[in-house]
Amino acid sequence: MKMIDMRSDTVTGPTDEMREAMAKAVVGDDVYGDDPTVNQLQELAAGMVGMEAGLFIPSGTMGNLISLLAHCDRGDEILVGKKSHIFLYEGGGASSFGGIHSRQIAENADGSLPLEVAQDAVRVDDEHEPITRLIAVESTHNALGGVCQTPQTLAEMNQFAKRNGLAFHMDGARLFNSAVAQNIAVSELTKHVDSVTFCLSKGLAAPVGSVLCGSHAFMKKARRARKHLGGGMRQAGIIAAAGILSLEKMVNRLADDHTRAKKLAIGLKDLPGIKMNPEVPPTNMAFFDILDSNPITIYQIEDELKKRGILAGSMGSRRFRFVTHYQITDADVEQTIAAMKEILR
Ligand SMILES: *Cc1c(COP(=O)(O)O)cnc(C)c1O
Repeated sequence: MKMIDMRSDTVTGPTDEMREAMAKAVVGDDVYGDDPTVNQLQELAAGMVGMEAGLFIPSGTMGNLISLLAHCDRGDEILVGKKSHIFLYEGGGASSFGGIHSRQIAENADGSLPLEVAQDAVRVDDEHEPITRLIAVESTHNALGGVCQTPQTLAEMNQFAKRNGLAFHMDGARLFNSAVAQNIAVSELTKHVDSVTFCLSKGLAAPVGSVLCGSHAFMKKARRARKHLGGGMRQAGIIAAAGILSLEKMVNRLADDHTRAKKLAIGLKDLPGIKMNPEVPPTNMAFFDILDSNPITIYQIEDELKKRGILAGSMGSRRFRFVTHYQITDADVEQTIAAMKEILR
């Protein structure tokens, strides 16, 4: 049975065109800076986000860690969202590898950090306290349901960062989803941050890889941090070739994923015992909560879906998500709605 896999957009496989480009990629040793395909990807990415330089890296998780290591010293503190990927899902890498202390702030509904709260969190110059060094934002914000911040909100966060002498990092794992949903160029979002990472391996369908972008000075430190973490990849042009196609061919079609997530949410929203949250998916993720009044467990829903050939992602004990992506069709959405109707009947 073909499974309809909506656990995440990370499950997307490469397109046939990507496989062909990978087979033919011209390569060199990227740790020496000699891989022309990696260099092309890095320049393309930096150009799109309007920054000086890009760095091809194995994963988004490593990209965030490299950024934190490049911006911060040991003992520094970073301001991050309470539900951010950096805080929740990256193995505490910032503290274990960087000696970096995190201060978690409950996000606004759009995933931005409330600036009055952030202002109170900024440390004073006192030997008892760590030094606040950085503020981070997640775009789109995963755990909050794929929500986006507007350029205006990011501009305000940037002003806050500059006023307090902080670096501003964006975990843009799904940055292109945010830009496509708002119908703007990605640079309209990234011009407000000092560094950004985004994943090629999610909705953009490349098999592996992320890109980190920032200034030349930042990148010098970032390259060093990548090497320290074991992320220098030699003939990485083989996989960068797929990433180039992600940026050239796979960005605009993200709108289809967003349309399908909305269709799914419309089909699910009146079913008994669950609540879509957010009600209308802003990008490619449809989240729902199981209502307290509903005795069904997350495992029961998961099992019943699986019996019907559908995989969904559980996010905690009463929350689910369906993530739409390149390999999810309109028919898959219909089938999922029908299955959920049976399960929740
Ligand atoms: C997926 C994800 C990451 C990490 O990306 P990997 O390539 O899976 O390591 C970082 N931040 C957010 C918000 C994500 O969704």
